[in-house]
Amino acid sequence: MDTTLAALAAEALRFRDARDWAQFHRAKDLAMGLSVEAGELLELFLWKSEAEVEAARTDPAAKVRVGEEMADVLMFLLYLAHERGVDLVAAFHDKLAKNAAKYPVDRFRGSARKYDA
Ligand SMILES: [Mg+2]
Repeated sequence: MDTTLAALAAEALRFRDARDWAQFHRAKDLAMGLSVEAGELLELFLWKSEAEVEAARTDPAAKVRVGEEMADVLMFLLYLAHERGVDLVAAFHDKLAKNAAKYPVDRFRGSARKYDA
C-alpha cells in the first residue's frame, strides 16, 4: 500500500478514458455501481458460517476474490469522488474528526452502541 489515492484515481481515470467510458460515468450510475460492487463483496460471505468465514481468511483463492471486490468498490468510489469533485482524503479526515467527537474514547471504548443510543 505504498501509493496515494490521487495516484490510484489517475490510474483509474486513464483506464476509463482509454475506453471512452466517461460518457457513462454519471453520479447516479457510479453510486449504483459502488453499491452493486459492495453487494458482490457481501455475497462472498452470504450463507457462510462463522467457521467458513474464518477459514476463508487464509484461503489464497478466497483472499483474491475478496480483494477483487474491494478493488471494484474502491474504483467506483474514486470515480464518484472525481465526478463530484470530492477530495476523499480531506473528506476522510473530516469524517474521522466528526466520529471522534461523536464517539469520545472515555465513553465508547469497548462499546458497540450508537452515539445517540
Ligand atoms: Mg465485482
